[in-house]
Amino acid sequence: CKPNVEWGGKVFRKERAPPMGAAMFDLTRRTAIVTGAGSPRGIGRAIAHALAAQGAAIAVADIASDGAQRVADELQAVGATARAYRLDVTDEAIVAAVFARVVEDFGALHILVNNAGVTQPIRVAAMTIDDWERVLRVNATGTFLCSREALKHLSDWGRIVSLSSVSAKRGGGVFGGAHYSAAKAAILGFSKALAREVSPQGITVNCVAPGLILTDIRGGVESEAEQRRVSRDFPVPRVGTPADVAAAVCYLCSDEAGYITGEEIDINGGTHID
Ligand code: NAD
Repeated sequence: CKPNVEWGGKVFRKERAPPMGAAMFDLTRRTAIVTGAGSPRGIGRAIAHALAAQGAAIAVADIASDGAQRVADELQAVGATARAYRLDVTDEAIVAAVFARVVEDFGALHILVNNAGVTQPIRVAAMTIDDWERVLRVNATGTFLCSREALKHLSDWGRIVSLSSVSAKRGGGVFGGAHYSAAKAAILGFSKALAREVSPQGITVNCVAPGLILTDIRGGVESEAEQRRVSRDFPVPRVGTPADVAAAVCYLCSDEAGYITGEEIDINGGTHID
């Protein structure tokens, strides 16, 4: 098929529509960077495993280099191609150096998952400017810096998926402060605008917006009794797992999701339906 099509005076990349009945979500020959993937019970680790299970080579990137190394070792142990990188998503020079290194090591970059994030349970009246800037910097600025860097390396096919949150849409989740809601809303707006810019080149940009997912981001996972208590009135009456989020991210990274861009997928058991 022709690589590009002209329509309405614009040139579009011609995406091949997925064939009917074929096995889906094949990511062999794709390389992915997953930021914040070093947390032992985190969403990023689950995403790294899910993408690797579909055949992608994984750059496990985290500010915690020992955690990143552990996850890369796990992936290699199950036969995946993976390497660990120490990455601080808020540091422009480090982001540039790590992305260049990944391309050198793997030969190309196709997928970026902006997963690194921090939160803090604090009310606005008590919030300092340092609190505000730290949460905005890791979540929102980190997503901008990594996405901009990825664009230098993505060629005519790419996937950028970023972690927003239910907090962005309903004004706070169970735990995070208003700065976290603001940062996660910034990621949604940024992703929609970037999707308009780069989708004609074959690069889709999407978000996932998880609800309450069982990880250490709130300082440790909740006990089973606590999980049952908080999820009692959820339409899907349980808390979410990292694997729930990873499945949606994996889909958005696939060829099959090539006609989805500027979108967000809610993964919240129905706790926020819009
Ligand atoms: P987690 O704390 O288990 O993992 C976050 C990871 O980000 C950690 O490994 C941490 O080292 C890394 N990180 C922090 N600052 C960094 C930096 N500057 N550079 C690189 N890495 C950095 O948390 P999680 O729950 O797995 O969160 C993953 C993502 O999902 C976050 O963006 C979070 O906001 C989002 N999210 C989580 C939930 C939830 O309920 N767990 C809900 C909605 C959205």
